[in-house]
Amino acid sequence: MILSMIHCIQNVGFIGLGNMGSRMANNLIKAGFNLTVHDKNNDALEMFSQMGVSTKKTPYEVSEASDVVITMLPSSAHVIDVYTGPNGLLHGGKLIRPWLLIDSSTIDPQTSRNLSATISNYILKEKKGDSERPVKLDAPVSGSIIAAEAGTLTFMVGGSEEAFLTAKPLFLSMGKSTIYCGGEGSGSAAKICNNLALAVSMLGISEALALGQSLGVSATTLTNIFNCSSARCWSSDAYNPVPGLMEGVPSSKDYNGGFASKLMAKDLNLAVESAKLAGCKYPLTSQAQKIYTELCNGGHDSKDFSCAFRHFYSGMDEPHDN
Ligand code: NAD
Repeated sequence: MILSMIHCIQNVGFIGLGNMGSRMANNLIKAGFNLTVHDKNNDALEMFSQMGVSTKKTPYEVSEASDVVITMLPSSAHVIDVYTGPNGLLHGGKLIRPWLLIDSSTIDPQTSRNLSATISNYILKEKKGDSERPVKLDAPVSGSIIAAEAGTLTFMVGGSEEAFLTAKPLFLSMGKSTIYCGGEGSGSAAKICNNLALAVSMLGISEALALGQSLGVSATTLTNIFNCSSARCWSSDAYNPVPGLMEGVPSSKDYNGGFASKLMAKDLNLAVESAKLAGCKYPLTSQAQKIYTELCNGGHDSKDFSCAFRHFYSGMDEPHDN
């Protein structure tokens, strides 16, 4: 019998109601799931309480009310705290109610794997079919706050494939695609690789556009060329870093409202650590890490990561009709 026939995914706990999590939780509510939420920030909790959603003061209380728990937290340390800290999800001895724990935070693969191993030692309070033990999926996302709001995220999922298939309706309520990456930790690994490629492409486009401006070719002209040439990429045609060149993107909103440079710096730190552990070369990751660390230290930590164009390369704004 497959898990979906046995396991309920209707009662969903959600922990971490920040920029991404609040929007993901909203989409689950819209899709008809029965939510119980927690965040250490009372304002975030209050917002959901006013919408009639059940709120809890601790992760453990969420765990007690849910069949599935999703976490969307800033970093590995926060995830470890929510799982294993006092009144954490795993607080109740070796017994646990949720059969499935999904962590969508961007964290290092090693921590993901360690948590999966810890959880595999727990026992379900109520046996479900043949299975007695809970499972964990690492399911980080690609896509900005805009994608979280629109329900168009991409999920990269590591862990049991059977659990992944059962949880698919949850993922597809928050995203447009969901890709199974392999065993425990492989979703986290995929996410780190995606963001390392993104950081390098954003810096490459920014460096080229700033050089073009200095050589007398406008960023608008160069972008037009890139977008029908071999340099075309998401950073040139969907998320251009030059203020005034595209509407609706963070560069045209003083680099507000996107993916913060501090989050990119965090992801690059994870990529460097993973490359060291794997014995791989990482010269571009290392250089990108230095640039984003410098941007953060220079006070641009909360600005969108495309701000490298202005604040690292000193690129210039271009009027929309240039
Ligand atoms: P955020 O800082 O806006 O939200 C995190 C939330 O977690 C906050 O509400 C905070 O109060 C809560 N929190 C922190 N520690 C907690 C604890 N111990 N107990 C309960 N709640 C706790 O972060 P975000 O932008 O929503 O990002 C969340 C994750 O998603 C990160 O791992 C990030 O790298 C990843 N991500 C972000 C984006 C983006 O564009 N922002 C895109 C893709 C992936």
